[in-house]
Amino acid sequence: MKQRLLTPGPTPVPEETLLELAKPMIFHRTAEFRALLGEVLADLQKIFVTKHAIVPLTSSGTGALEAALANSVPAGAKVICLIAGRFGERWKNIAKAFNIESINVTVPYGQAVQPDQLAKALGDHPDATAVCATLSETSTGVGHDIAAFGKLVATTPALFIVDSISGLGAMECRTDDWQIDMNCTGSQKALMMPPGLAFLSVSDKAWTAIDKNPNPRTFYFDLRKARKNLETNDTPYTPAHTLIRAMRVSLKKILAEGIENIWARQARYAAGARAGFQALGLELFPAQPNTALTVVKMPANIDSTVLLGKLEKQYGLKLANGQDTLKGKIIRLAHMGYIDQFDILAAIAGVELVLSEMGQPIEIGAGVAAAQRVFARC
Ligand SMILES: *Cc1c(COP(=O)(O)O)cnc(C)c1O
Repeated sequence: MKQRLLTPGPTPVPEETLLELAKPMIFHRTAEFRALLGEVLADLQKIFVTKHAIVPLTSSGTGALEAALANSVPAGAKVICLIAGRFGERWKNIAKAFNIESINVTVPYGQAVQPDQLAKALGDHPDATAVCATLSETSTGVGHDIAAFGKLVATTPALFIVDSISGLGAMECRTDDWQIDMNCTGSQKALMMPPGLAFLSVSDKAWTAIDKNPNPRTFYFDLRKARKNLETNDTPYTPAHTLIRAMRVSLKKILAEGIENIWARQARYAAGARAGFQALGLELFPAQPNTALTVVKMPANIDSTVLLGKLEKQYGLKLANGQDTLKGKIIRLAHMGYIDQFDILAAIAGVELVLSEMGQPIEIGAGVAAAQRVFARC
């Protein structure tokens, strides 16, 4: 049976990138590797839409979140965390681990934090040293208005730090225009790569804060050391250089299409997926959905754990369940990265077959047809 990986990370990797990963090992302290790293970071700047330096880290995406907070925010300082799901909660947990006080602006799962909530928090806490937000809240499918947040934070001394791990490369994200000081992402979501690499952009405002921090409380993720090494396109420690070599191939694929074209295509994919599921009577879970993944609620009599198990076993379709209290209640279909409209149609067709098998009164083909009509229109 053909397997289709449609989870919001890891995501499928293009064949030409996989072939690159099969090549023999190389040494990393060479002019060739420095040129390669320089090229990959320059390509990433186009995807981040930034002129600022991008620091590569050998870790999963969370390493970039940790590096951002530990380096730029001193112990005992205060940050505002905008929390709309599991990944927003991660900001709060990282702050706690580094002895940083977090002011939590929390909305129920499925809702998005609104700019006026941030404005109020900034007004109440003029001493906040950073605001931590999430572009795509992967646990609920919510997308945040990062541009509006950035405008608010830029008028204050606080840094604007964004987790764009599942959003960057899938939905519009303009690091510099939106005044994001540290934009943190990982390789295994929309960037068509296996897990193992993290990247963060660092603005001048952020470097100033990092330089002023008397104690970064990290050794491996010390961004000052990384900056020094980046002057020669080097890294302080052994990078996952075979991943970087493969990433060159995935990034060329992304840039050949053009990042703005990808944002538009992702919006079409999301529109098709939403229409398909809605035609089956499934309600969207996020009030303010993003275009990297589509998250829908299950009918009251359907346990998503059972549905997802059948999808995987009977049809090779791997979608994601809800996490924590949402387990059994929602399904999450990722359509970021190396996924096309026929993968989306396959997922909807599979959901139709399983819902029907589970006795749900749906019309076979209704979801697929609705999605196809969207794809035909645009
Ligand atoms: C996947 C994801 C993470 C976690 O990243 P890891 O690579 O597992 O460390 C964090 N935030 C968001 C929004 C994600 O989608």
